[in-house]
Amino acid sequence: MSGFNTRAIHAGQEPDPATGAVNVPVHLSTTFKQDGVGGLRGGYEYSRSGNPTRTALQEALAALEQGAVGLTFASGLAAEDTLLRTVCLPGSHVVLAGDAYGGTFRLLSKVFARWGVTHTPVDLGDLDAVRAAVVPETRVVWCETPTNPLLNIADIAGLASVAHDAGALLVVDNTFASPYLQQPLTLGADVVVHSTTKYLGGHSDVVGGALVVADAGLAEELAFHQNAMGAVNGAFDAWLTLRGVKTLGVRMDRHCANAAAVAEFLQRHDAVSAVLYPGLPDHPGHDLAVKQMSGFGGMVSFRLAAGEEVALKVCERAQLFTLAESLGGVESLIEHPGRMTHASAAGSPLEVPGDLVRLSVGIEDADDLLADLEQALA
Ligand SMILES: *Cc1c(COP(=O)(O)O)cnc(C)c1O
Repeated sequence: MSGFNTRAIHAGQEPDPATGAVNVPVHLSTTFKQDGVGGLRGGYEYSRSGNPTRTALQEALAALEQGAVGLTFASGLAAEDTLLRTVCLPGSHVVLAGDAYGGTFRLLSKVFARWGVTHTPVDLGDLDAVRAAVVPETRVVWCETPTNPLLNIADIAGLASVAHDAGALLVVDNTFASPYLQQPLTLGADVVVHSTTKYLGGHSDVVGGALVVADAGLAEELAFHQNAMGAVNGAFDAWLTLRGVKTLGVRMDRHCANAAAVAEFLQRHDAVSAVLYPGLPDHPGHDLAVKQMSGFGGMVSFRLAAGEEVALKVCERAQLFTLAESLGGVESLIEHPGRMTHASAAGSPLEVPGDLVRLSVGIEDADDLLADLEQALA
């Protein structure tokens, strides 16, 4: 297999056979001419069922995650919804990270609960706790690593063996790491989930989601549901995401370098009581991250010694770090998870500390980022 960056630029992206176009065209046509009834060209008949621009993105993502099949969706949550409706039935049970993405928790607790699918949040860092949370009805162990916004690290290979012993699938939300830093299918996971809105798209200009699987049978069931439920991404969205994917490797290298510089700076600052970044040697998940990741990512969270009011002030005083939700784009963002991305978890087991600030460290010049944090913390 060719190297990661070569796959990012070429997998699924052969020059167009009809015109030689080097970049995959944006196929906006909703329907495709048939050469006689049922005589489909390349399998295309209608763009919900299949679209050549979407196919290119799906093949690229499958190649990057070293999976058999990739499927892309209108958003990360559309991908999650399609996956859960494919593998769960009323009465099924899901074990998920105690600090899972707020939207995943909301989908399970507010939507799937109404259809009789139950869930148990656990600390995925404790494999015995996961083993204890599994019941005969457990269909899915849902892992996120690193987690959002606490940057905890879970042992993907260990969780795969617990899930498989229980007859369940291990699903890994790989949004934070991206396939450049971590490839969960190679560690035993069954399904990788992405919000391609984040690092894969990389420019904060397109919402999307993806599933990548190793098993062809599961892929077929998911593809059936993708078409039957219809939450596909449009051709232009697929094209924009593919354009982002081409530069994933170089962007992630810079995200990682800048995040390391930011984490070290924050660790030395008096106003900061804790820095959560798996690249720091004193992070509890550091050794595991070294083992299963090839870099530590661009997300850094930290806590303010003086509490929530100061955390809010820091978010508002930052200039270069834009006060906004989301993550994974070239531009640096700052946010207060308790009041913003994780507000829906208030009062639940997934509530986050009020003194916490989350940074999505972009690829600007590191000195400018540190200067902005310096003035915001002053
Ligand atoms: C953003 C995000 C999602 C949801 O994806 P959308 O594209 O916003 O629907 C899921 N998981 C993680 C870790 C995320 O950051």
